Amino acid sequence: FTRNLEHEAKEAHQLENDLRVSLVSNHVELHKAISNNEFKLMYQPIVDVASDTVHAVEALVRWNHPKRGLISPADFIPMAEQIQVMDVLGNWIIRRACSDALTLPTNSDGSHVGVSINISATQFIESEILVSTVKQALEETNIEPQLVKLEITESAAFGSEKIRTIDALRKLGCKTALDDFGTGYSSLTQLNTIPLDYIKLDRSFIAALGGEDQLKDQRSDRITRAVLSIAQTFNLLPVVEGVETSTQCKRLRDYGATLIQGYLFSKPLELDETRKFIENFGKKAQV
Ligand code: C2E
Ligand code: CA
Ligand code: CA
Ligand code: CA
Repeated sequence: FTRNLEHEAKEAHQLENDLRVSLVSNHVELHKAISNNEFKLMYQPIVDVASDTVHAVEALVRWNHPKRGLISPADFIPMAEQIQVMDVLGNWIIRRACSDALTLPTNSDGSHVGVSINISATQFIESEILVSTVKQALEETNIEPQLVKLEITESAAFGSEKIRTIDALRKLGCKTALDDFGTGYSSLTQLNTIPLDYIKLDRSFIAALGGEDQLKDQRSDRITRAVLSIAQTFNLLPVVEGVETSTQCKRLRDYGATLIQGYLFSKPLELDETRKFIENFGKKAQV
C-alpha cells in the first residue's frame, strides 16, 4: 500500500515535471506545444429536448501528450493557471472553438449550433486581452456572436472589474453562462449582479436523481426543482449537465428544463464525430 502511494506520488511528480518542462519554463514552450498540436478540443453536445435540436456543443480541452496520451483538463488546468500560462492556452481555445464551430452543420430545422467555451478565472486577470481575443475571434470567423457562449465558474471574487469584463463580452454579442451553479461560492446576490444568460446545474445535484436510493432521490429532486425555479425567477436558461439516464431526462423535462448535457446523449466527441452527431440527431428527430 505504501509502495503504491509512493508510486503515485512519483507519477504525480513526474507529470508535474513534464508539465514544467513542456508547458512551462516560459511561454515559448507552451506556444510550441500549441503549434505541435499537443492540445485539442473535444465537443460535448448540449441537446434541446423540446425542439430536438443540438443547442450548442461545449468545448473541452485535452492535452495530447506525446508520451502519456490524453491528459484530462482536471490534471493540467490548475497547473497551467498556477504557472500563468492559462491565458495563452485559453486564447488558443477561444479562437479554435470559434473556427471549429463554423464547420458544424445546421440542425434539421435550420437553426445553428452554438459553441460553449470555458473561461478560466485567471483569464479575467488580463481582462483587456480576454475581451480583445474574443472580439478578434468573432471578427476573424464572422460567427454570429450569440452562438458563442462563455462559461464562467463561480468564484469568491466577482468584483466590479470582473463584472465590467463580463458586460464587455456580452456587448460583443456573446452569451454568458454561470458554470457549476450551486457548488462553491454561489450566492443569489451573484445572480443579481452578474450579467448572465444561462446557468449550468452542476452534475452533483442530479447524480442521485432517479436512482435506487429513494431518500437521496427525493433530496436530489427537491434541490433540482428549487434551482430550476431560481433560474426561472432570474430569467436564466438552465442547462443541466451530467444527465446519464432517460429517467433523469424525463423528470427534468417535467420540471421545464430542456437543455440537457450528459452521457445519455453523448460523451465529449472529436470534431468530425461532433458533425456526425448533429447530422444524425436531426435525422432521428425527423423520423
Ligand atoms: P465542466 O466545465 O463542468 O465540464 C463538464 C465535465 O463533465 C467534462 O469533463 C465532461 O466530460 C464531464 N461530463 C459530461 N457529461 C457527463 C456525464 O453524464 N457524467 C459524468 N460523470 N461526467 C460528465 P472534462 O472534459 O474532464 O472537464 C473537466 C473540467 O475541466 C471542466 O468541467 C472544466 O471545469 C475544465 N475544462 C475543460 N475544458 C476546459 C477549457 O477549455 N478551459 C477551461 N478553463 N477549463 C476547462
Ligand atoms: Ca463547463
Ligand atoms: Ca460544469
Ligand atoms: Ca462540473
